[in-house]
Amino acid sequence: MRIVRTIAEVRAAVSAARDAGDIVGLVPTMGALHEGHLSLVRRAREGSDLVVVSLFVNPTQFAPGEDLAAYPRTEERDAELAAGAGADILFAPPASEIYPDGFATSIHVAGITEVLCGAHRGAAHFDGVATVVAKLFQIVAPDVAYFGQKDAQQVLVIRRLVRDLDMPVRIEACPIVREPDGLAMSSRNVYLDAAARKRATALNRALDAAEAVVARGETGAPEVLAAARAVLTDAGIDPEYLELRSAEDLRELTRVEGTALLAVAAQVGAARLIDNRILEAR
Ligand code: AMP
Repeated sequence: MRIVRTIAEVRAAVSAARDAGDIVGLVPTMGALHEGHLSLVRRAREGSDLVVVSLFVNPTQFAPGEDLAAYPRTEERDAELAAGAGADILFAPPASEIYPDGFATSIHVAGITEVLCGAHRGAAHFDGVATVVAKLFQIVAPDVAYFGQKDAQQVLVIRRLVRDLDMPVRIEACPIVREPDGLAMSSRNVYLDAAARKRATALNRALDAAEAVVARGETGAPEVLAAARAVLTDAGIDPEYLELRSAEDLRELTRVEGTALLAVAAQVGAARLIDNRILEAR
């Protein structure tokens, strides 16, 4: 695996592969890699000939007061893990390569960014995500890009971006990877102390409880949400949001119909955690 730091280098490497007829897969990450990220890299390895993993802690998607400075940075280990999972190229640029002096452009995806994490982290979050992902697509020009369903709203934002701007890339969403006790893997889990780590399992258990309600045939949003909320309350967690929305366009649902997304965000100890579950009525 080659580590490259400049746009010119990664473009040169990719265009050589493309000239040879190779399919290029991209896995965008902010590093501090865990099994969730590695599942995307392995999936990319299966589905493409050249696998590019990007590692960039994107400053524009952090609001003031969020954890940009504290965000875990473990590049050496990330490089080993990415290589082990099948990456060919690790693109790890400095911030000045992505945002040179005078950088003035931002991409705003309207509508679906105004709820859930967009409402709570501020509109700038998804502007930052859309802008950096658009740049990565311009730089790497992948045939396929792999994202985790863990960030369900992010996947929808990227799909909208790609459709609206006619970007010639296929977006593949990959399943949420969990710890053995159900906690969704996240680079931010390192912020959890032992007590908070234990309490954090309540997010997945809350989603389980909601799923069980739906499996019993109760599909009303109040019942589904109450079941999830009870588990959170029991663990002393007051969620930032806990909402039932359409998995396709994030409109609020009054009952589980079609494909519903139950999404939760909560501060647990020092970490802001998110999780979600697709619910389908029988
Ligand atoms: P991040 O480094 O947090 O920006 O995440 C990079 C990519 O990995 C995003 O597409 C995430 O959705 C995905 N990802 C993060 N955690 C998980 C997980 N537990 N399971 C699956 N994908 C994940």
